Amino acid sequence: MEAGRSMRLPAFIGLTRAYRRAHFDYHTPPGVDAVAKGFDAERFVERLAEAGCQAFNFFAKDVFGNCYWDTKVGNKHPHLDRDLLGEVVDAARRRGLRVIAYYNVMDLINARRHPEWRHVGHPAVPGSEGEYVCLNSPWVEEVFIPELKELAHYDLDGVFFDFLYVRQPCACRWCRETFEREAGEPFPERAEGPGWRKYIEWVRKVNDKLVEVACSALHSVNPQLLVAVNWAYTPRQPGEPPECIGYLTLDVDETRCPVLEASYHAKHFDGLGKPFEVMVTRFLKWWGDWGLKPLEQLLAECATVIANGGACNIGDHLYVDGRQDPAALELMSRAFEFIRVREECLPSSSVPYVAVLLSAASSWAQGRVLADDSPLRGAHLLLLESGVHHDVLLDSRLMEEMYEYRLIIVPSQRVVEPELVDALKEYVAGGGSLLVTFDTSLADGQLELGELLGVELESEEPVELGYIRPLDPGLAKGLPESPIFVRGRFTAVRAA
Ligand SMILES: [Zn+2]
Repeated sequence: MEAGRSMRLPAFIGLTRAYRRAHFDYHTPPGVDAVAKGFDAERFVERLAEAGCQAFNFFAKDVFGNCYWDTKVGNKHPHLDRDLLGEVVDAARRRGLRVIAYYNVMDLINARRHPEWRHVGHPAVPGSEGEYVCLNSPWVEEVFIPELKELAHYDLDGVFFDFLYVRQPCACRWCRETFEREAGEPFPERAEGPGWRKYIEWVRKVNDKLVEVACSALHSVNPQLLVAVNWAYTPRQPGEPPECIGYLTLDVDETRCPVLEASYHAKHFDGLGKPFEVMVTRFLKWWGDWGLKPLEQLLAECATVIANGGACNIGDHLYVDGRQDPAALELMSRAFEFIRVREECLPSSSVPYVAVLLSAASSWAQGRVLADDSPLRGAHLLLLESGVHHDVLLDSRLMEEMYEYRLIIVPSQRVVEPELVDALKEYVAGGGSLLVTFDTSLADGQLELGELLGVELESEEPVELGYIRPLDPGLAKGLPESPIFVRGRFTAVRAA
């Protein structure tokens, strides 16, 4: 057994090659005494292996704060009389499946037990309150780190964190004290102005710090563990993932069009240079629904993910007693087979053609904890529906790789750093094409790219309505003669 284990590929290589993955939600309220009573770890893993699954996420800690391993430092589910995670890890090892522990940081149990640790929200931001622990509170030192150090002793391939980022502003005493100490200025009472922008910049640093803390706690015990944070480094909180992140992941918002979401996020992840997965669910209407998605829809989602170079993770939720719905497993197995027969063509890599810029600085400068990424979404939708192959790149990567692209699109990215302005000038002078929209590079009433574009700003239009009429007859080909009505923001410019 030990010899077999030492022959195992390192988690990094092994998981990167695993395109067929599953995730099992198992949020079980503390009062449920049926917890895991119908669960057989051997049988569960055996069925997954038969279904063609290569790696899966299994619960270490749920949203309530219940732990599913034999913990001495955390709150084990009160009705769980076995080491559920341990059994699953052992069974998975015997069959060569990869296991990632799911860890949810909301910890409602500790938030109730320690009201002083609770996320309180910001009085100037309605709806920002919450029942969960604040990630700037002593919970990190007293609960999070000790639990992770204990968890890391299991023979896992990695840990998947849920909600390990600031998702709502918070004005608790810990947030106030930490902000004032680190930023050196008073905590902002109003959700606007320079003080607020400084606060949002600080939120970005808090996120980075949380990832660093989680990685060092886990890697101090097992440096091989792959760390992933659900929704981190996505366009709503963009940035370069640090070295300690093993792979990128998100469960796409299926209340929107899942295929479109999968395409959008897979393209963005692919531009960040790390292995990634995209999670879609087996549910008809996302989490909380027990209906089964049609096979054709699931296959379209999986195809989109693997075509963009990602691994496909299919999410399910176990019943309260731990059993998996056999129909859900059957659906998964058919999707896994679809992926398996195409695996020879993977991993694929994108051929540079059109680049779309995502400026991380622009997103954070919006002054929101979660940025509005609709301009980038719009560019992706336009290109996808027009059948134009494209990549999404952060500023830093675009600077390095721009000459490989024939066209660069900058969709309403307000902050364009001076080095990038210079680089774009050279790129265009060398024959490259540039397309910008709306308020790109608009700072202090000036367009930083104005000289290159040959225009000067006249005004930012106050109304969110306008019409498009192509001035160049070449662009009018195939368009109706009447002006095209558009709901959106515009700037008025004149030829310089
Ligand atoms: Zn707080």
